[in-house]
Amino acid sequence: MAGIVVIGAQWGDEGKGKVVDLLAERADAVIRFQGGNNAGHTIVRDGHAFKFHLIPSGILHPDTLCVIGNGVVVDPAVLTDELDGLRRQGVDTGGLRLSANAHLIMPYHVLLDHAGESMLGKSPIGTTKRGIGPCYADKAARLGIRVQDLLDEKILKKKIAAALEPKRLSLRPFAKEIDLQQITEDYLVYGHRLEQYIADTARLAWDLLDAGRTVLFEGAQGALLDIDHGTYPFVTSSNPIAGAATVGAGVGPRDIHEIWGVSKAYTTRVGAGPFPSEIPGELGDELAEKGGEYGTTTGRKRRVGWIDLVGLRYAVRLNTLTHLAITKLDVLSGLPTIQACVRYRGEEGAVFDHFPYHQSMLHKARAEYEELPGWEEDITAARGPEELPQAARDYLDFIADYVGVPVVLVGVGPGHEQNVWTHDDVRAETPAA
Ligand code: GDP
Repeated sequence: MAGIVVIGAQWGDEGKGKVVDLLAERADAVIRFQGGNNAGHTIVRDGHAFKFHLIPSGILHPDTLCVIGNGVVVDPAVLTDELDGLRRQGVDTGGLRLSANAHLIMPYHVLLDHAGESMLGKSPIGTTKRGIGPCYADKAARLGIRVQDLLDEKILKKKIAAALEPKRLSLRPFAKEIDLQQITEDYLVYGHRLEQYIADTARLAWDLLDAGRTVLFEGAQGALLDIDHGTYPFVTSSNPIAGAATVGAGVGPRDIHEIWGVSKAYTTRVGAGPFPSEIPGELGDELAEKGGEYGTTTGRKRRVGWIDLVGLRYAVRLNTLTHLAITKLDVLSGLPTIQACVRYRGEEGAVFDHFPYHQSMLHKARAEYEELPGWEEDITAARGPEELPQAARDYLDFIADYVGVPVVLVGVGPGHEQNVWTHDDVRAETPAA
């Protein structure tokens, strides 16, 4: 039996979608365990790009159960749209399962998200304004509406009324947009549409794991955006770390056997917050352009930096990573030299090589680099480690040595087949790789 977690080891957008898609080939189920439709995965198949915001990437594998776990917050408008879109593209969505315990994003959550960000004026968090933060807030306040509530009109209406009550003041500017009856009716319609997918998804996972099958747990965002362990307050409103897979899917720590971290060969970050290895100026823009660093969900341009091995080593420990996938190595081709951030320099010359727990230390930290030789060759056609230039292999070895986890998979292009597997035993377990 194997439970495999895949998480982002940086600030999100690492290319987890492609890695999950590859591993899904040996999985019986893929379960998303946190986040909402602020995640965006792009998977390229036969030259066609599929974009997912909510539905786990495994949906492209017809025999794989695709589960939205209890830890996810679900906007039913987005989910039903995404289902329609997939059906139009000929994708069979019959394998989808939606946890009855997942919380629903309501129209007032979206309004509150907008209002919250405008209130912060010039220093917003940079949320995607999809209502995800306010939805998690309601969950913690025990005022959330869950998927199962959609199936009972009376309960639904009562719960929405109760959730609206303490928000009256903050929702006053939107009074015209809040109509209890209308929201209830709209959500009942979503309920009818989604009913066929609603399930006790924790039990589904147990049954598969107990039968010795393989279950993939798919994280969204990245470890440094974790609400507890990331760069708070510039974080997401859930826990994207591996430990959260148990909470957000309803399994135990002993159900997890492998933990894969995905990192780009460089670093990106969306929105505000500290970013010690950020590359200023032209080179940063050039890499952003070359790497297509624009958000799948928002279209926002991402900030670009060199790989931050201090942050990556922190993510390795925090998640107890067993495998590392390095994506987008091809984007670095053509650079004469590559920098890898190996320590931070703080105030008054203090040098440290661990990720600071204190927010103001991180804000003031400047990256210090080890310079490595670059390579000229186009590597997008490489399929084995021997087909990579020596400098690229040295760079990967440098990363693996620094963080103490093997780099098993290297992305050399967006295509499904544009990968280099560096460990034959790992590759052998992934049939189509
Ligand atoms: P995720 O949220 O972590 O899945 O990341 P996204 O899907 O938002 O971003 C990853 C983007 O990089 C997508 O457009 C992928 O097609 C693309 N991508 C993934 N792996 C590679 C790679 O190895 N090289 C290149 N050039 N692009 C990649």
